[in-house]
Amino acid sequence: MIIIYIFIFLIGLALGSFLNVCIHRLPQGESVIFPRSHCPACGHKIKNLDNIPLISYLLLRGECRYCGWKIAWHYPLVEFITPLILLGIFILHGSSFNLLFFKYSVFYLISTAIFFTDLFRQMIPDRLSLALMVSGVIFSLLPGNDISWLESILSGLSIFSFFLILAYVFHKFTGKESLGGGDIKYLTAVAANLGWLGSLFTIMLGSILALLILLISGHDHNKKFPFGPFLITGSLIFFLLKEFVLHNYLTFYK
Ligand SMILES: [Zn+2]
Repeated sequence: MIIIYIFIFLIGLALGSFLNVCIHRLPQGESVIFPRSHCPACGHKIKNLDNIPLISYLLLRGECRYCGWKIAWHYPLVEFITPLILLGIFILHGSSFNLLFFKYSVFYLISTAIFFTDLFRQMIPDRLSLALMVSGVIFSLLPGNDISWLESILSGLSIFSFFLILAYVFHKFTGKESLGGGDIKYLTAVAANLGWLGSLFTIMLGSILALLILLISGHDHNKKFPFGPFLITGSLIFFLLKEFVLHNYLTFYK
């Protein structure tokens, strides 16, 4: 079993490194495959040896080899949390490579990329939300999924139309923007993956968290602020609660 854990950790490191590329390039509309990795500051191509997740960061002491640019903190963080996310989901699903492991891995890895693009650039790339909508529906068609394909599609469509109408009405009456298009598309993706209960909890928990932070930090109401990270945290709390309840319920009745 320990070999499998190490295997998942290594896969996670590689995927984390790819997520960093997505976080950096997608908001600028760049391709995530070509060209090869380069330093965001001096543009110098990064050698394979300097591109090993986490290890290169430590060896280079957090600086670019060529220009000394301090590598942003989220690079090692994302490389570190991605394997932990994969391992967590693996263990929560009975340490087996079942459908739900793959489904939630895809969901939370892409959500991790969204978390940081929204945090840094206040935008959720359409390509990522769209990928999640499609993967949610595809997984719901396969045996072993936790929601039906009908729930996946219907909850996605209703959440999308509800918030679209809400945003339109809000804009008409106040002239202000409420929920951004990026948030609405991400919520649609949440619904396609987590279903009714999951999306309602995500919205509720995400809004409560966002309100709390806004109140504590005294954020200017007229300024833009990223809602995505709160939604993602909300969906993660729901996911962990659900797994916890299910797990205890099942062991209790065994
Ligand atoms: Zn550089």
